[in-house]
Amino acid sequence: MTSNCTRPERVPLTRMDNADPELMGELLETVADVAFRAAFTLGEEVEGFEQEWAAYCGATQAIGVSSGTEALTLCFRAFGFEPGTEVIVPANSFIATAEAVTMAGLVPRFADVDPDTALMTREHVEPLIDEKVRAIVVVHLYGQPVDIDPLLELGREHGLPVVEDAAQAHGASYRDRPVGSLGRCACFSFYPSKNLGAWGDAGAVTTNDSRLADHIRLLRSHGERPRYVHHIPGTTARLDGLQAAILRVKLRRLEKANAARRALARHLDAELEGTELAPLQRAEAGGDHVYHQYVVRSSRRDALREHLEARGVETGVHYPVPIHRTPAYARPDSAELPGVEGLATKVCSLPIFPAMSPQELERLITGCRSFLSAEAGRSHV
Ligand SMILES: *Cc1c(COP(=O)(O)O)cnc(C)c1O
Repeated sequence: MTSNCTRPERVPLTRMDNADPELMGELLETVADVAFRAAFTLGEEVEGFEQEWAAYCGATQAIGVSSGTEALTLCFRAFGFEPGTEVIVPANSFIATAEAVTMAGLVPRFADVDPDTALMTREHVEPLIDEKVRAIVVVHLYGQPVDIDPLLELGREHGLPVVEDAAQAHGASYRDRPVGSLGRCACFSFYPSKNLGAWGDAGAVTTNDSRLADHIRLLRSHGERPRYVHHIPGTTARLDGLQAAILRVKLRRLEKANAARRALARHLDAELEGTELAPLQRAEAGGDHVYHQYVVRSSRRDALREHLEARGVETGVHYPVPIHRTPAYARPDSAELPGVEGLATKVCSLPIFPAMSPQELERLITGCRSFLSAEAGRSHV
């Protein structure tokens, strides 16, 4: 090993923009340009990004907001449900999916998922519907779209809007329809490590419902239109001009970045399918996955993580505690959700990011192989 090796020794779970000098140069110029114009709040960059993001998602409207959590919260507020109304949420998501329901004065009702795909299906949702439930949230977890058509149909049968939590699925599609255009509305996060990431917190809602869009536009900025005319009580939840400008630059690279993630996933699939480290299966309807995470399941998950860690390969667990078992949401009578609870003990996210080098991929694969052969030896003892 040479001492001026530019690749860090460890393979990280993901890699941020500061590792890409060319992109950094372009983004720093963009930031300087916005700063010199003091174009910080709403205005041209935000509107420009909103138009580009709506077009990219195949929706008529996009509303830039301050985070993915706010995107969800503002949708639930805009529906105008009675306080205490319930919303069906899969229990294996980032906690924000449920928190947004709570922050809007509503109550999450937790659903189980298919342990082979980690996604919620119509079969998990239908038995939970009663007169208290007024909406369904689907989460396109890890970058894979849920099989949404049967859920949309279920929603139509019961008059329930379906909200997409698309915070992990920028650029994914389902039966050739882009994520973000499938439900009544869709919520995106541009947290820095997402497939499209800002330099801080940012989010967006997409929808084809122009009245809903208008309501969310009012809510995100004090119900104000024009200045100092306040139509409804709202909040400060706007997308920043700086973040919008950064996102416009990075959006131009998103397709290529997602293609790189898919190519890495194909290598890992070829290596791991049929082994003890079975990758999650694809949802039957064959949604186009964008691999925000590459997730395998192992009954020896913690041993796998230690094995890879010792070889300089970082891993993650998404998520170690199901939402309905967190202190924030656990109740003495919380339902058992065997699919979600089983996944929480088995899932392991392996490194996957667009700039992963062939050497890094090799190191990851070598680590998985040596784990598998050690496990095979162990089971023969
Ligand atoms: C990241 C994420 C969110 C929350 O987004 P923030 O921008 O961090 O508020 C919501 N849902 C899911 C599934 C996420 O991964």
